[in-house]
Amino acid sequence: MSQPSVDLRYRWCCETFQDGGNGVRVRLSSCGYGSRLVLARYLVACDGAASPIRRALGLASVRDAADARARWQGALVRLPGLRQRTPHAPAVQYYLINPRRMILGSLDGGDLWRVTFPLAGGEDLTAGEVRAIIAGALDCGTGSVEVLDTREWSGDAAVAESFRSGHVLLAGDAAHRMWPSGGHGMNTGLGDVANVGWKIEAVLRGWAPPALLDTYTTERRPTASAWCGGHGAITVPTSPCGPTRPWMTPNRPRSGTRSAGGSSAPASPSGRRSASSSASPTPTRR
Ligand SMILES: Cc1cc2nc3c(=O)[nH]c(=O)nc-3n(C[C@H](O)[C@H](O)[C@H](O)COP(=O)(O)OP(=O)(O)OC[C@H]3O[C@@H](n4cnc5c(N)ncnc54)[C@H](O)[C@@H]3O)c2cc1C
Repeated sequence: MSQPSVDLRYRWCCETFQDGGNGVRVRLSSCGYGSRLVLARYLVACDGAASPIRRALGLASVRDAADARARWQGALVRLPGLRQRTPHAPAVQYYLINPRRMILGSLDGGDLWRVTFPLAGGEDLTAGEVRAIIAGALDCGTGSVEVLDTREWSGDAAVAESFRSGHVLLAGDAAHRMWPSGGHGMNTGLGDVANVGWKIEAVLRGWAPPALLDTYTTERRPTASAWCGGHGAITVPTSPCGPTRPWMTPNRPRSGTRSAGGSSAPASPSGRRSASSSASPTPTRR
């Protein structure tokens, strides 16, 4: 990436900052180049969801719903022959309508998949249990599921109480954490920097007062709040539910392609209809 106004430096870390007077003093360090003090009029913190800078400023993150921090199980798995055995159209992602509400994401177009599903309250699964659950959801034997890695993760939906403190402004995940569902995280972050970018320039060039920067929070926070659930955009499942439903037609080759999640899904051997697929993944709102 190259921009006349951007000096991109890799492997530098913001160690400390001090906001006072007409700007910010930022202490940077690098393994290769030592330490450096930078004086700037404004600091835009794009340091991610954990944002040490937001914490140092004492800006709270406001969570709209108490259950926003639901836990999920993630797994990297090899599912040999899944593509041949499913009666559904080839897809990048499959959303299973089963008790686990499992999501399968293709990693290589072949046998490698990323599997995620919500965990119940105190659930803490071993790799063997994850394997059995995936096999159960796919209606295949555990021998057809090779678990390469498992990780638990928790999503969040929270927005900083303010996107500005003095000469420091928050942008991206530092300002708002939201669920991956819907794909709004980075989009919202890009909206942030588009908004705050021209305003900082206006102030630096002297054709707008510093108070213009207060409109950054006013304009961007409601947008972030909306995607974080303030307008019901995302609700998070907290526990599995419902009866088990098979997904694959065991050992039966796929006969032709079908429309995504279409009603033409063939009945499973048990007589029940199997899951939905999504050739162009439709984001779920949780
Ligand atoms: C599974 C998943 C799927 C997603 N899908 C989508 C999608 O489809 N569409 C979408 O728009 N968004 C999506 N997102 C969200 C998106 O990835 C994030 O919103 C985006 O990456 C946030 O960018 P950021 O720059 O604000 O933070 P980050 O990407 O977290 O970057 C912050 C950076 O700051 C660095 N840093 C932290 N502290 C310091 C320090 N003291 N000094 C120097 N550097 C520091 C970190 O190392 C990191 O590199 C998804 C997220 C997940 C987890």
